[in-house]
Amino acid sequence: MTIPQEIIDKLISQAQQDAPHETCGYLLGISGPNGDVVTENYWMENIDHSSDHFSFAPKDQFAALKYARSKGLKILANWHSHPVSPSRPSQEDLRLANDPTIRYAILSLHEGVHLNSFKILNGEVVDKEEHFFL
Ligand SMILES: [Zn+2]
Repeated sequence: MTIPQEIIDKLISQAQQDAPHETCGYLLGISGPNGDVVTENYWMENIDHSSDHFSFAPKDQFAALKYARSKGLKILANWHSHPVSPSRPSQEDLRLANDPTIRYAILSLHEGVHLNSFKILNGEVVDKEEHFFL
């Protein structure tokens, strides 16, 4: 999955703005001959307002799906920030990752800035991509 730098910059500023709470959203884009390319960050409220977990509101997820469809985009990834822990899924993230067709991206602000994304199947990471580190 390709994430243009300008979108990564938006994720970083959103994560920094919402810290110490986790922030979250969807990465929308297209699947083309060169693989998946993210074209948009779709912010969604973390209704838990927590620094160690997040939830989307079902109405926001529904609106995101509707928006993506109207623009001809796919939901390529679900992403959230880890303000104070590394860019890897927590036990809870693994447990809640119920869609093996999308990626789960985690932007960590812990010891620098790291953005990795994962495919998760049956509670286990089956693929990892590194998108950015600073
Ligand atoms: Zn997490």
